[in-house]
Amino acid sequence: DTSEIPSIPSWLRDHLEADGIESLYPPQAEAVDAGVTEGENLVASIPTASGKTLIATLAMAAAVDRGGTALYIVPLRALASEKHEEFAEFEQYGLDVGVTTGNYESDGGWLSGKDIIVATSEKVDSLVRNDAKWLDDLSCVVTDEVHLVDDGERGPTLEVTLAKLRSLNPDLQTVALSATIGNADELAGWLDAELVDSEWRPIELKKGVHYGEALHLEDGSQQRLPVRNSEEQTAAIVRDTLEDDGSTLVFVNSRRNAEASARRLATTTDDALTDEERAELAEIAEEIRGVSDTDTSEDLAEAVEKGAAFHHAGLSRDHRTLVEDAFRDRLVKVVSATPTLAAGVNTPSRRVVVRDWRRYDGTAGGMQPLSVLEVHQMMGRAGRPGRDPYGEAVLLASGHDELDELFERYVWADPEPVRSKLAAEPALRTHILATVASGFARSREGLLDFLDGTLYAAQTADRARLEQVVDDVIAYLEVNDFLERDGDGLAATNLGHTVSRLYLDPMSAAEIIDGLEDGDPTPLGLYHLVCRTPDMYELYLRSGDEEEYTMLAHERESELLGRAPSEFNDEFEDWLSALKTARLLEDWASELDESEITERYGIGPGDIRGKVDTAQWLLGAAESLSSELGLGLGGEIREARLRVEHGVRAELVDLAGVRGVGRKRARRLYDAGIEDRAALREADKSTVLAALRGREKTAENILENAGHRDPSMDGVEPDPDVGSAEV
Ligand code: ADP
Repeated sequence: DTSEIPSIPSWLRDHLEADGIESLYPPQAEAVDAGVTEGENLVASIPTASGKTLIATLAMAAAVDRGGTALYIVPLRALASEKHEEFAEFEQYGLDVGVTTGNYESDGGWLSGKDIIVATSEKVDSLVRNDAKWLDDLSCVVTDEVHLVDDGERGPTLEVTLAKLRSLNPDLQTVALSATIGNADELAGWLDAELVDSEWRPIELKKGVHYGEALHLEDGSQQRLPVRNSEEQTAAIVRDTLEDDGSTLVFVNSRRNAEASARRLATTTDDALTDEERAELAEIAEEIRGVSDTDTSEDLAEAVEKGAAFHHAGLSRDHRTLVEDAFRDRLVKVVSATPTLAAGVNTPSRRVVVRDWRRYDGTAGGMQPLSVLEVHQMMGRAGRPGRDPYGEAVLLASGHDELDELFERYVWADPEPVRSKLAAEPALRTHILATVASGFARSREGLLDFLDGTLYAAQTADRARLEQVVDDVIAYLEVNDFLERDGDGLAATNLGHTVSRLYLDPMSAAEIIDGLEDGDPTPLGLYHLVCRTPDMYELYLRSGDEEEYTMLAHERESELLGRAPSEFNDEFEDWLSALKTARLLEDWASELDESEITERYGIGPGDIRGKVDTAQWLLGAAESLSSELGLGLGGEIREARLRVEHGVRAELVDLAGVRGVGRKRARRLYDAGIEDRAALREADKSTVLAALRGREKTAENILENAGHRDPSMDGVEPDPDVGSAEV
């Protein structure tokens, strides 16, 4: 019973009661027994939806009650806002809760008074690099989804960041939450933590494989579930679930597949709707159309009208929220999703179908099977506590051999062990520079000692290999003038400090510097330059793109900075992909319609936002590098950055910077003769209203925003997640 939990504040007891939580789930009780409310380190490896968040809450509330500060680290921005909303409920009890994700160049001083802070691991890493003093005073750090230390791209950042936080404060309580993994004991060993390793779930989960006329479950039983003529397997399962008044979550391997699957399944859900549901869904569809005027928005609205939806990272945040809410309210009966939805967003469903168990993987080549851990996380979303007697999670087999294979591979299999990916060179390049620059190590030996505190060291006996990579990286950083040696000592140069604070991959910095030294940049040249760096996700080349962009490269050769690889070189394709990405940014900064851009490049509106955010950050970094090196290109870079930030041509930059204006309204105002902020300040309301063709309230707000700078916004960090991409 919750009244027996030691060391938690009374407000939390009240809160749990108000939330209908009367007793702890068994793994939560184990965590309390292990001392999580009394400052003990803990690794909790438990299934999806088994109440990990409450374990974190118990630890953080107890830490705050002792006068401390807690940090909650999430792997994805989308999860940061979800968790922030959850913890912000504690503000009614007097706690101060903050969230920070974007802007990697500040020390986040405004966070210093907070009790609980939610941040992505990249953001925390950047705060350490910017010497955020308040981090020394942290008393509790929680990392969500810690099994992602296994992720080649982002895992090392989490690993190194945890090691740094722990070395800043040896008394720091570390709570690491993980999906069920094969080697939770190793993680606990690394973090000197108590271990809760449990398979318990609040609701029974039956895993199985559908094949032919039946659903084969892991307990050996079968349920008849025939596929009707011309029906797809997934549709048959969705229909069967609907007959039982249940909803289905379908996991697929790409955004395009998610959209196509939702479109097809909408014909199945459409038959099952009541008139009342149809009316409510029509309203939600209108809200979806109101978010943005794009094909994606229209496709989503059309599916939702019929009770189906898709969900992927290309959707805007508003679209995602509308879909998640409608699914939880049981209006939307089926959601086809990419795995982002399995990672932490709380959307349980009666049945889960893992339709695609292979995914395209460019590095490994071709279609590769998903890991057991990923598939189990998706499956774990099945079953709504309090609503369903149990959940069912289903893979699909098209033949008898596949039926056997899927049982072996996923249903009966244990999740893989988690392995550190820190020894990969790109990861070490970034983290070694940062570790030296922020004073965690001052020599080669010191560096190796620091690395001893990582999971990598805990998992490898082969110190020689680590030393070899470390030496290679030090040599690279020295050649590029980011580090210098002084006898046995190692120190960052001024340039190295700047690069580390800017949160750039040193290789990106080297590329940008090389390009800027070419001189005389245009926006396209600058966009191409930053798109070439390893910090930007480039667009893929589709068939026909190679010719198109090779032509473009010839036409605009004089604008492109740095050395171009020869057309026969392997790097050429990458260089062209960067050009394609750069032209997207140029289109955006030339006021091309969002819907035209999504069509031209075959992407979603959320992708434009993603590229724009990254470009904005990299161009900001280029500005700092130009000034650090005295190149005098600040003006050109700034203009290119502001144009891409607001999605406007140069003449609108000033106007579009007014809060609430945005690219479309800026153009309308400009065409009506209001050409800049100063003119807007003087303009009368009727002119503005006529120009905007909008509501009176909008015009008033805009005028007010143009009139005086709101001093309360000073020092407030802009969150790029809530930028004004499209108004
Ligand atoms: P996880 O993070 O492990 O995937 P969550 O923390 O989101 O799971 O918990 C899933 C659901 O279970 C939430 O809706 C939460 O409110 C509920 N829950 C957690 N602990 C308890 C409990 N002890 N009693 C009842 N409900 C609980």
